[in-house]
Amino acid sequence: MKPFGRFYKAREIVAAILLVVFFAGPFITIHGHPLLMLNVLERKFVIFGFVFWPSDFYLIVLAALTLVLFIVLFTSIFGRVWCGWTCPQTIFMEMVFRKIEYWIEGDWSAQKRLNAAPWNREKIVKKVGKHIIFYTISFLIANMFLSYIIGVDALWKIVTDPPSEHLTGLIIISIFSFVFYGVFSRFREQVCQFVCPYGRYQSVLVDEDSIAVTYDFMRGEPRGNPKKVKRQKQAAVSKQHVDVVGLATGDPVGFPDVKDLGDCIDCGQCVRVCPAGIDIRNGIQMECIQCTACIDACDEVMDKIDKPRGLIRYASYNDVKVRKHKFRLTPRVMGYSAVLLILLALLVGLFFSRSETQTIILRDPGTMYQQMQDGRYTNIYSYKFINKTFDTRNVEIKILKPADGSLTLIGLAQSVGPQSIQQGRFFLALPTKDMTPGRTEVTFGVYSEGKLLDKVTSSFIGPDKLNGNNSNNKQQ
Ligand code: SF4
Ligand code: SF4
Repeated sequence: MKPFGRFYKAREIVAAILLVVFFAGPFITIHGHPLLMLNVLERKFVIFGFVFWPSDFYLIVLAALTLVLFIVLFTSIFGRVWCGWTCPQTIFMEMVFRKIEYWIEGDWSAQKRLNAAPWNREKIVKKVGKHIIFYTISFLIANMFLSYIIGVDALWKIVTDPPSEHLTGLIIISIFSFVFYGVFSRFREQVCQFVCPYGRYQSVLVDEDSIAVTYDFMRGEPRGNPKKVKRQKQAAVSKQHVDVVGLATGDPVGFPDVKDLGDCIDCGQCVRVCPAGIDIRNGIQMECIQCTACIDACDEVMDKIDKPRGLIRYASYNDVKVRKHKFRLTPRVMGYSAVLLILLALLVGLFFSRSETQTIILRDPGTMYQQMQDGRYTNIYSYKFINKTFDTRNVEIKILKPADGSLTLIGLAQSVGPQSIQQGRFFLALPTKDMTPGRTEVTFGVYSEGKLLDKVTSSFIGPDKLNGNNSNNKQQ
C-alpha cells in the first residue's frame, strides 16, 4: 500500500533537503576547499574545510567516539528517529527507489498482479525499464559516494579519461554500483534487519522512556470493529436460538461488549502500509524502522470513524502505560550527557590547539660527527615538514639552543606547497664550548614568515673527551 499522510509529507520534505545536500555536497567548497572529503586511500580527511592528516588521527578517533555516544544518547531519548527520517538507506529506498517502483508498477496490489502475470510485453517493458532506472541511479549514487572519498576532480578524471588509465577506479565504481543496485532492488529492509548494527543494538539503547512510534494499547484494546462484533454476536445468538430454542438469553460468551471495545477497529491498515511487514500493535520491534507510515494510516482511519488521531503516535511506553507525558531526565540520559559533554570539550580543545604544521627533525642514524678546521664539530640531520594548510609556507629552520650553533641547509627548497610534505637535510655546527662530552641536547625552531611554528628537540653527538686527543671521526 502506498504511504500517505502528514508524516509522510514531512518526511518527503526532509528527504528532498537531504538529497539536495548529498548530491551538492562534493561541489560545495569553503574558501576553495571541499566541505567534506574522506580520502581513506591517501589518509587525508577534509571536514568543513579543515584538513586532517594521519598525525591528527587521534582527533578522528575522538570525533568518531563522540559521534557514537551522541547517537546512543539521541537513541535513548528519541528511539530510532534517525532510521525513519535521515538514514540514507531509508531515504533512497522509500523516497527514490520505492517511488519509482510505484510510478512504473503501481501500488502494492498492482505490483502483486504484475508479478503473478505471465511475461507479456507490458511486464517485460515495466520490469526491464525499472531495473535499468534502478541501476542508473545506483551508478549515480556510487559516483557521489566516491566523490566524497577522492574528490570531484579526481572522479571527473576517472570518468572522462580513457578507461585503461583508471582501471582500479572504474572497478571500484562498478562494485559500488552493483552493491547499491542489489541493496535497493533486492535486499531492501533486510539491510536494516540483518546488516545494520544500529538496528541490532536497539534493545540495549532504548528503555521505557524512549520515544518511538508506539501503539496506544491502553486506548486501542480490546480491539475490534463494532459493526463486525455486532454482526458476529447476532449470528451467534441466532445459532444458539436455532440450537436450543428458547434458551438464547443474554450475550453469547466469547464476544466483548461493543461499548467496551477500544479505538482500534482492527482494520489492518497499519500492517498493510508497513514496509517492514510488522504489526506495530505487537509492541516495539527490532524490524521497525520508525518510518511513521502506520501513524498516517491509522490517523486516516481515526478521522473516518470520528475518533481522535494518535492511536499510533510518537510516544514512550510510559507515556502510553501511565500517561506520563513529561520528558524525564533518567540517570541513563544524565550519564550519557555528562560523558558526551566531556568528550565534546576535549575534542574542541584538542582541535583548536592542534598545529597546522608538523616538523620532524632527526639526526641521521649511522652518521659520524666531524671536526671542522676552526675546531667546531658538525652533525648531519634530516627533516620532514608537513604543511596541513591550504597555503604555501616558506619555512626556515633555526637553531635556538645552543644559540651559537650554525645551521647549513643542503639545497634551497624551503617553500612547502599546500597540503604537502617537504623533506631535506642540513648540517649543524657547534663550538666545543657549547657541547657536553658525548651527547648534547639541541633545540631547533621552525619559522614561517618570522613566526615560530614548531620547536623540535634532538641530540648532537661529539667526542667523549672534548679537550683530549680525539679521533676526528666517530660512528654512533
Ligand atoms: S511499524 Fe512499520 S509502518 Fe510503523 S513505523 Fe515501524 S516500520 Fe514504519
Ligand atoms: S490502523 Fe489503527 S485502527 Fe486500524 S488496525 Fe491499525 S491500529 Fe487498529
